[in-house]
Amino acid sequence: METFDITVIGSGPGGYVAAIRSAQLGYKTAIIEKYNTLGGTCTNVGCIPTKALLDSTHHYSDALNSFGAHGIEYSNLRLNVEQLFKRKNEVVTKNTQGLDFLMRKNKITVFHGSSSFVNNETLKIVHDDKTETVINSDKFIIATGSKPSTIPGIAIDKKRIITSTEALGLQEKPESIVIIGGGVIGVEMASIFNRIGTKVTILEYADNLIATMDSELGKALTKILTNEGVEIKLQQAVYKAENLGNTAKVYFKNKQGEEQDLTADYILVAVGRKSYVNGLGLENTNVELNNNGTVKVNELLQTTASNIYAIGDVVGGAMLAHKAEEEAVFVVERINGQKPHINYDRIPSVVYTWPEVASVGATEEQLKKQGVEYNIGKFPFAVNARARAGMETEGFVKVLSDPKYGELLGVHIIGARAADLIAQAVVGLEYEVTANDMAIMSYAHPTYSEVMKEAYTIASGKPSLNI
Ligand code: FAD
Ligand code: NAD
Repeated sequence: METFDITVIGSGPGGYVAAIRSAQLGYKTAIIEKYNTLGGTCTNVGCIPTKALLDSTHHYSDALNSFGAHGIEYSNLRLNVEQLFKRKNEVVTKNTQGLDFLMRKNKITVFHGSSSFVNNETLKIVHDDKTETVINSDKFIIATGSKPSTIPGIAIDKKRIITSTEALGLQEKPESIVIIGGGVIGVEMASIFNRIGTKVTILEYADNLIATMDSELGKALTKILTNEGVEIKLQQAVYKAENLGNTAKVYFKNKQGEEQDLTADYILVAVGRKSYVNGLGLENTNVELNNNGTVKVNELLQTTASNIYAIGDVVGGAMLAHKAEEEAVFVVERINGQKPHINYDRIPSVVYTWPEVASVGATEEQLKKQGVEYNIGKFPFAVNARARAGMETEGFVKVLSDPKYGELLGVHIIGARAADLIAQAVVGLEYEVTANDMAIMSYAHPTYSEVMKEAYTIASGKPSLNI
């Protein structure tokens, strides 16, 4: 029986990063993935394919709606839906092949097959052809991720009542789609399908879209998506859905209890994801679960079995690829005796609608709830020269800072290139600098980043030079 120093179960962003760091530090490393391709949810059915489709449909939408204003004229614009999905698949394949290369380069042993613990030190891998491999390992890292969850009354049949996974594989343009949940998946999927001409309706239980972010972001996004033709129904509790053969029907009621229903080609369920440990044989180990099904870990991400660690979506918290990656490096470097740290409240969130939405640190609602005083510096993209040049004038940057010492408390952006702009705000929060520190640096002109400078300036108590 082969023995490894560190064995990683699951090859998503948590798993593959853990395996690479482990091999870099000289450990004999194995990684096990039950599917035929590496990369997990993010690479195969999550971050990467959605961004590929968001980028393609963004180009199409620009061609339809704004090329004319730039003086670009064409006739016979046509969307080739088959090519749209083919390119998405090619992007995914390039990324999974990149991971195969990285595993070979780092001399990591890759097993494809479903794995389950025999005991705290031994794992059995069952391959597609039903053959088995049994390995021992000094340490294990569980990185088995998450699967879509649903709500009572809604059974996902993967045909008409689907999740993001099936939606990404549709290969056709649906006439209509109802999305249950206006969270991150809901609004990204709504953008993709709305841009290609599908009639999209979002049914959201909360008062706002992307409800965990600063509420001004959700409100602004609601306006933008509504203007683009997405129908958004807030404060709606969905309680039933049924497959009608060629369509599906969804039933929901508002706060007053008034019942409504909608019929569409597909009902896309996007109401969150749950930790996935099915078939992992945790009952044969000392690993315990929390009540919500996540793997119980201490602050070192060590489970209740001292040689078994867990990272990424399977331990809960923000279900983000970069959070899983941070935890991967953290665990391996801790095993190695190093002292890495993770600042969970400085992990940025990004929503890849257009304009993009990005956020780091406390929201205004959180600060109010905690009774923390704050300054607000808010600046619109509409008066930024670069934004005007590019016709990308929607949105704003909102900076929240401590009124006494000026320390940044939170930065929230909706606007062009927010996904990339947020990185400098993360630096500011991580190193506890003030809004004034961020404001007095030089920002290239003309750039979208100048909107950040203006918002920092206002938060630090000085007037903007441009408004
Ligand atoms: P996963 O990526 O879920 O990987 C777990 C792997 O473990 C899977 O490949 C699974 O097959 C394998 N596995 C499970 N059980 C076993 C077993 N017993 N034996 C062997 N292998 C097993 N996050 C972002 O940060 N940015 C985004 O833009 C983004 N977009 C997303 C879009 C969508 C549509 C979805 C669904 C998610 C998106 N996410 C995004 C979230 C992101 O995908 C997850 O947070 C991330 O993949 C979690 O990584 P992980 O390593 O914990 O688990
Ligand atoms: P989410 O938690 O972001 O949103 C789920 C939404 O469904 C919530 O707004 C909730 O109020 C709503 N909801 C719940 N029950 C409902 C009901 N009965 N009727 C109507 N609405 C209801 O979850 P998600 O959008 O499914 O995404 C899952 C995870 O994937 C998230 O943790 C997210 O971080 C991750 N993800 C990240 C990205 C990104 O980083 N860009 C993209 C996609 C997914």
